[in-house]
Amino acid sequence: MEKKQFKSESKRLMDLMIHSIYTNKEIFLRELISNASDAIDKVYYKTLTDKDKTFNKDDYYIRIHPNKDNRTLTIEDTGIGMTAAELEDNLGTIAKSGSSDFKDDQEMEEDFDLIGQFGVGFYSAFMVSDKVEVETKSFDEETSSVWVSEGADGYTIEPGTRTTHGSKITLYLKENSEDNNYDDYLEPYRIRQLVEHYSNFIRYPIKMVEEKS
Ligand code: ADP
Ligand code: MG
Repeated sequence: MEKKQFKSESKRLMDLMIHSIYTNKEIFLRELISNASDAIDKVYYKTLTDKDKTFNKDDYYIRIHPNKDNRTLTIEDTGIGMTAAELEDNLGTIAKSGSSDFKDDQEMEEDFDLIGQFGVGFYSAFMVSDKVEVETKSFDEETSSVWVSEGADGYTIEPGTRTTHGSKITLYLKENSEDNNYDDYLEPYRIRQLVEHYSNFIRYPIKMVEEKS
């Protein structure tokens, strides 16, 4: 399968995330939850303008699933989803954000404070993950797609099996190191703490799948 290259600015931001000069790694969860919430908002607005569609509140939520056996953390939403083309546009490029005009490393570090303030976005997932998988189905299309990347060297997109609209982001957490215990993000109490701290304002229910022990 062809591995596609990130646009150069995305690649630089991705490098920053992976080598993480940014120490506050835990904010990745805030970023992914905020994207999930935005995605549900988009369905909501669609249903406001389309008489044939209704927004049934119970169908819209964000679900977090820490899986200790696989060392994965999954953030799933029932939002608008993405077509294969949208995956390419949205996750292969840093589009609109002010973070895109990096010039030298000094400037990059300065910009980085700004990014931290306004949201580092999807790529922050790579601060805690070796591999990120996005399985998604658009509200407007029958087919689904899977985007996979192991970091700055590119990504692949292939057909998926998801049958309902929305997105499931699976993080394959990094190995623990002296300075970082990524296993922390598999602990329900820790996830709850982060959600309360950073995502308190989210309007949709945030559910957690807890494994029986
Ligand atoms: P921002 O949220 O500031 O636009 P991000 O880097 O967080 O930047 O996300 C990039 C884009 O990827 C979003 O604008 C959106 O189009 C798309 N995206 C990310 N996560 C999701 C999701 N869960 N559902 C649908 N689209 C998403
Ligand atoms: Mg975002």
